[in-house]
Amino acid sequence: TSHLFTFDEFLRFWAADRPERLAMEGDDLRFDYAGLEDATARVASALLAMGLTKGDRICWFGKNSATYFTLFFGAARAGVVMVPIGWRLAEPEAAFIIDNAEAKLLFLGDGFEGAAATLGARPGLMRCFTADEARKLITDSPRTEFAPSGADEAVLQLYTSGTTGNPKGAVLSNRNLFGLRKASLDNPQPHTLWDEDEAVLVAMPCAHIGGTGLGVMALASGLPGVVLTEFDPPRVFDAVENRGVTRFFIVPAALALLLNHPDCAKTDFSRVKYILYGASPIPLELLRECIAMFGAQFVQNYGMTETTGTICVLPPEDHSVEGNQRMRSAGKPLPGVEMIIRGPDGKPLPTGEIGEICTRSSNNMLGYWKLPEATASTMDPDGWIATGDVGYMDEDGYVYMYDRAKDMIITGGENVYPAEVESGIYGHPDVLEVAVIGVPDEKWGEAVKAVCVPKPGHSIDADSIISWARERLAGFKVPKSVDVIEALPRNPSGKILRRSLREPYWAGRERQIN
Ligand code: ATP
Ligand code: MG
Repeated sequence: TSHLFTFDEFLRFWAADRPERLAMEGDDLRFDYAGLEDATARVASALLAMGLTKGDRICWFGKNSATYFTLFFGAARAGVVMVPIGWRLAEPEAAFIIDNAEAKLLFLGDGFEGAAATLGARPGLMRCFTADEARKLITDSPRTEFAPSGADEAVLQLYTSGTTGNPKGAVLSNRNLFGLRKASLDNPQPHTLWDEDEAVLVAMPCAHIGGTGLGVMALASGLPGVVLTEFDPPRVFDAVENRGVTRFFIVPAALALLLNHPDCAKTDFSRVKYILYGASPIPLELLRECIAMFGAQFVQNYGMTETTGTICVLPPEDHSVEGNQRMRSAGKPLPGVEMIIRGPDGKPLPTGEIGEICTRSSNNMLGYWKLPEATASTMDPDGWIATGDVGYMDEDGYVYMYDRAKDMIITGGENVYPAEVESGIYGHPDVLEVAVIGVPDEKWGEAVKAVCVPKPGHSIDADSIISWARERLAGFKVPKSVDVIEALPRNPSGKILRRSLREPYWAGRERQIN
């Protein structure tokens, strides 16, 4: 299948190759490959019959479901661009995306019918569908001939997580979405290429590449995608024990929730071959605990919305050795992915030197929707994307991602990366979660502050945290102060919002961004 590049091609190929194999299963719908091919052709036909054309946008506002994936794959076949909206967004935020995307249709997920009166009335929309109406469209629309979208035409618009600023709509093509599969076929490795008996769990929100991208990988591999409406530990346990799931991707915060759930130790994970994690830095201690608990092979993924997700992978063998330095790495670029580290002058730096991680591949987005300036400052004319992440590459080609440039703390002239300090503090017996930020300081410019969430029934003693950190980190990285908070502010993709934590300390002051 390495010659296939579009949704239309993959759907027709698997429908002919394995018509009766399970393709997609949610609480709402279940399709084999023949059924999925037919349903998506009906969706494509229906959208075109309503007068939509290539490049028109449609939105989904709801939790994950097979209905969503069927609409997305169908729209993609016709070149209509799906824009999934994070279901945790408040209505004004969702309205911003509908308006910003100039969506023609809005589809609401099960339980989101209430939004029809408000979001469904946005001025640019032709029509709003409930999930039941969407399923009627999927099953009852007549199938007609249509011209499928081309490899380099847009099919998906995903808004970035908004961790560092306003979310931007990254426009992704057929080729972007199937690039990962092609890279895996060109250089087969067990952790990137799936076995014929596998099934994948879609557990992260479909408004992010870690959710939607997994559903696309299932299709690309001709294997079943099992869709969870949302991440929920008991449902994950059920899926791995009873629904044939062999592989899933979740973020570090979700791994911690699985690990701390009382049913985790009782769950049989023996059928899980690979647990993929990434999207934010993982504390080393948490990773070690997970390896001990789950026994599965762990694979770290590093990437961003703008690169259609994963561009760098840390394989299972680099997770095995206790004290292995490589466990701190985000892995090696996938075949076909170029990566360089650039200095402040924009020139590539030699091996081992720290700078901004930059990447180029056929996974790179077409651009940000209607933001030519943001596109130009992120992606240069030669196609290199500046990730905004700081790190270095070693002699063996492993990338060490320190943190986001915007979160780096400069204290007394030294650079401190919050993720490293967080990793040093995590594991303290009283700490459930921790975030590290820079706060203004007369003497040091910025001072390192740790904001800790205590474990249930524990309390946080600042001196104990500081001395724990002092045993594990260089002096300049040790927090000067410790605050206690009930829960860390996170966005729906589980990323800690360090900018909101910083805000009260910086009120009225300008923070220098590097
Ligand atoms: P915004 O760009 O709107 O501020 P965001 O960058 O969080 O939001 P995403 O595209 O979802 O939006 O996230 C990509 C970022 O996530 C990367 O640039 C990197 O900072 C972080 N990231 C991804 N994978 C990893 C990983 N394996 N380890 C550490 N950080 C990661
Ligand atoms: Mg980003």
